[in-house]
Amino acid sequence: MLRIRNLKCFYGQIMAVKGISLSVKQGEIITLIGANGSGKSTLMEAISGLLPDWTGEVLFEGKSLKGMDPPAVVRAGISLVPEGRMIFPPMSVHDNLILGAYTMLKKKAHDEVKIAMEEVNTLFPILRERFDQPAGTLSGGEQQMLAIGRALMARPRLLLLDEPSMGLAPLIVEKIMMVLEVLRKKGLTILLVEQNAQAALAVADRGYVFETGSVVLEGAADELLADANVKRAYLGKDYEEFDDANR
Ligand code: ATP
Repeated sequence: MLRIRNLKCFYGQIMAVKGISLSVKQGEIITLIGANGSGKSTLMEAISGLLPDWTGEVLFEGKSLKGMDPPAVVRAGISLVPEGRMIFPPMSVHDNLILGAYTMLKKKAHDEVKIAMEEVNTLFPILRERFDQPAGTLSGGEQQMLAIGRALMARPRLLLLDEPSMGLAPLIVEKIMMVLEVLRKKGLTILLVEQNAQAALAVADRGYVFETGSVVLEGAADELLADANVKRAYLGKDYEEFDDANR
């Protein structure tokens, strides 16, 4: 569904992504893990049209995304849930969601907007309960649900999520990951950037490990969870001890 070949991304003279290749198949959950500054968000921004300065090949359903601006990428079927959620705090929950349907409203596809809103309400009933509340008054977990809901309002086929677990309690992270599994069952394909490697690898089919702008390791999620280097670098000492004791 998504094929990236030799992608290099630039901020002026700085090359932040240094020739990455990866693929995401229809119906997969793929995770990108790696330390701060390793280029994961940059890659997401390149795919979604927010960072135009890149070389290489990014093909979505066989078509190049080169030169597409963010609305064109959304129209092509890809939505981004950005790092830090980026909701609009003074606006109501309802209005934040409607913003996600911007490209459909532009082409007057009002029936599609209604269907999308019903789907989001079914997935996140809490948002329906808070419809008229300013989005900034939601809890962190609810704001993350709103950011995901807003992305779903465009009815994407590929959902990009940049660190959805950031700043959330473990129970809420679990809930968010469960939502991703539900979405996958409904046919959505997901590319998930995460610092919380353990939570991400638990739901993902495959993963790529980033280091300073390059992919240093890739494989099935369970293989990565068992990999000594991944355990040491991204899963932490407590996990390593637990895993060693329980194998
Ligand atoms: P994090 O998990 O902290 O978000 P990341 O893996 O997503 O990290 P990126 O945000 O993609 O990493 O950053 C990759 C590199 O690009 C870093 O060295 C960063 O300093 C640099 N970078 C990111 N944004 C910019 C920018 N707007 N201008 C210049 N350099 C940038």
